[in-house]
Amino acid sequence: MLFKRADSPEWTPLLKAAWAAREQAHAPYSGFRVGAALRLKGGEVVGGCNVENAAYPMCTCAERTAVCAAVAGGMKAGDLEALVVVTGADALTPPCGACRQVLVEFAEDLPILLDNGRQKILHHLKELLPSAFTGRNLGAL
Ligand code: ZN
Repeated sequence: MLFKRADSPEWTPLLKAAWAAREQAHAPYSGFRVGAALRLKGGEVVGGCNVENAAYPMCTCAERTAVCAAVAGGMKAGDLEALVVVTGADALTPPCGACRQVLVEFAEDLPILLDNGRQKILHHLKELLPSAFTGRNLGAL
């Protein structure tokens, strides 16, 4: 099974894409640069970076920019297989609550690898967002 361990080689292309996306981050206010990369069924990798705005509530996280890019490219629910989130922060940076909710729309138990260049840890979305609100709660699934 893929993406079961933090040191598995299948993470390598996602890590490269996430670090490359981080270089594109628009973070002039916080300086907190974040990169993300999604792996889709079929092996496609889609990157994202945080995009800040002078109107702070308009800031968008790297995870959500990656999801939006993937959806624009045709991603459907169930197509999302794995996520990497990278920062240069001392503490590993998990997806925020808003991103967890957006991610669960596409994969309920997504493996999520966090990396800061010094350490890695593997989480799963079910652990980060237990008892998630999904389309089942609306009777849509
Ligand atoms: Zn977020």
